[in-house]
Amino acid sequence: MSRCLAVDLGGTKLSAALIEHGIILKKQCVETLSSSDPAVLSAALSDLLVPMSCEADVVSVASTGIINDGILTALNPENLGGLNAYPIESIIASMTGLKTWVINDAQAAAWAEFNRYEAQYPNMAFITVSTGVGAGLVLNGQLQIGARGIFGHAGHMLADPNGPLCGCGRRGCVEALASGRAMGFAGSAYYNQPCTGKEIYSRYLDNQPKAREIVLRSAEVIAQLIANLNITLDLDAVVLGGGVGLAPNYLSLVEEALCCLPLVYRPKLLPALCGTDAGIIGASLWAESNCTLPVTFEIA
Ligand SMILES: [Zn+2]
Repeated sequence: MSRCLAVDLGGTKLSAALIEHGIILKKQCVETLSSSDPAVLSAALSDLLVPMSCEADVVSVASTGIINDGILTALNPENLGGLNAYPIESIIASMTGLKTWVINDAQAAAWAEFNRYEAQYPNMAFITVSTGVGAGLVLNGQLQIGARGIFGHAGHMLADPNGPLCGCGRRGCVEALASGRAMGFAGSAYYNQPCTGKEIYSRYLDNQPKAREIVLRSAEVIAQLIANLNITLDLDAVVLGGGVGLAPNYLSLVEEALCCLPLVYRPKLLPALCGTDAGIIGASLWAESNCTLPVTFEIA
């Protein structure tokens, strides 16, 4: 494989790039309508990908949700509406005529960070704290996808059985307590006015006590998640990313919370380096690692 058309399909944004040996040659982004109509998504994918596909040898997609055997779903399929069970892999393969790979976006980002850190940490967790909390795991130098594509959804591990209801349908997940969205909800309830996670974070940086309490709670929950992963998986490092994860001082707060725990719970903690390109870079590297295997390319 020489040139990959790498795609990042998010909730509100679709981006695509031509990547050769990890170098981005050309990149385009479009805002997508928040529609759950499969025809709308197919049209947006076709408009963006078909013109770029003539310059590519393979397509690789980092997608929101769970990718189970090339089909888009979610922990809570109701959240996807009409997009549940969208056969993303076969649709893109037939619109481009190219072999297509699809993985979850946090898994792709984990693979990007693993490679960006030059495979120094063969047992690595990537955690992104953003609007939600996503994660991906590399074990023994291999990206873990899982038999149903679920591997690494650590944002839905339990943090507090009496906590808020999570979007997945379970109560008290890490995401329901530590995400930017969760911080916004907690702030809105306290200040009695709608707040975003970003607003709460800037109030924390201004030393407002309630905002500080909310952000510290988030960092504590993430530290406990890291400790749980470390004691289960015997990790070499945890890479923290996302809009909240890389916000000023957040990584230090997580580090401080980890320092209260016994040494065995504390892996090396590192910042994510790939930024907003982590999804497309990880997807292209994933296709590259698959294409080194003796596979037969069967175009749908
Ligand atoms: Zn959940």
